[in-house]
Amino acid sequence: MKKCYCGSNQAFEECCQAIINGTAKANTSEALMRSRYTAFVIADINYLMNSHHKSTRPTKERKSILKWTKSVNWISLNIISTKSGDENDTEGWVEFKAVFTENNQIQDIHENSYFVKENNTWYYKSGDHK
Ligand SMILES: [Zn+2]
Repeated sequence: MKKCYCGSNQAFEECCQAIINGTAKANTSEALMRSRYTAFVIADINYLMNSHHKSTRPTKERKSILKWTKSVNWISLNIISTKSGDENDTEGWVEFKAVFTENNQIQDIHENSYFVKENNTWYYKSGDHK
């Protein structure tokens, strides 16, 4: 079994891959967060754009995001805390730390991300860097 990149200990096929390819839905903002991390790892720019709320979607940075995520080596995702974001919520927050190496240097992104749910679909809207 190939474990999912998001660190869930589940099979990749049943975890983020199913959400990314649309056979499963992210029921919580944490699930969407995990799938977006995995999309960075596998450089699925279409999914990263589609799961980003249209009001803040960085369409112009599409190419540079793709180039950047391909240039770094993703190591791990740690979910630090979540607030709301459950199936019956319409907004949620996920604080996480994502670790990667860039030019052989360990780096991390520590962010509190904000998600909204519209038409029963979770979207990433914005993030506060820690
Ligand atoms: Zn996963």
